[in-house]
Amino acid sequence: MLADVLSSAFDSVDLFLRHFPRLMYHTHHNGWMKRHIVMLSVGCTSAVVVFAVGVSRIPSRHQPKHEPLDMTEIEDVVMPLRQAPASFPRGTYRPNIRESEASGAIDLGTFSPGRDLTYVEDERAWWESDNDNGDTECDHTVHYSMRLPLETTIQLVAERGAVLKVQDAYRPHLIHNPKSLHKEGRAVDLTCNNMPLEDLAKICWQAGFDWVFHEKGSRNNGPHIHASVAR
Ligand SMILES: [Zn+2]
Repeated sequence: MLADVLSSAFDSVDLFLRHFPRLMYHTHHNGWMKRHIVMLSVGCTSAVVVFAVGVSRIPSRHQPKHEPLDMTEIEDVVMPLRQAPASFPRGTYRPNIRESEASGAIDLGTFSPGRDLTYVEDERAWWESDNDNGDTECDHTVHYSMRLPLETTIQLVAERGAVLKVQDAYRPHLIHNPKSLHKEGRAVDLTCNNMPLEDLAKICWQAGFDWVFHEKGSRNNGPHIHASVAR
């Protein structure tokens, strides 16, 4: 193919030279010069073609570089939910193993509040620490792994016309026992208005918490849902 093209280009140049005796004078007995001129012609033609193709591919100034991005709002991201259990009686937990097996035991040696904690705000929920003046603890502060299941729970509760109440989240001091995952912000205590606690327990399970406990409560606190996450 290439040989054909070169050969026909060679013939054209040869023809050209025959019609211009002055040039022939220099080149007739000089095959090297002839080939040189042929190669020069072919090279120049290629350069012009490459340039023309390149120019034609430069996008016009008014043409957008890409389609406008259609970003989905983070609130609209639908996460697949777990199947709701048929029942979730008070005093039971799910899965039916110890919390330290499901969510992992506390390890304050590797825990770093600045690195591991985040702040969740959602006006659809009620936050205990926004409604008392007794302490400096903040119920919006949770472990990063807690963010998604907590926000999903707020969403699912709101969809049922109820209000989630976040009673306790990150608790570095006081109240909870030394092995409590609240000390790493990996546990929350939840109640709700306008909905049975058992339904809230089911929702917490659906929302993706790693361990959900429908607690009877004690003298210090009433029945509530304690839900925790793995790191
Ligand atoms: Zn708790």
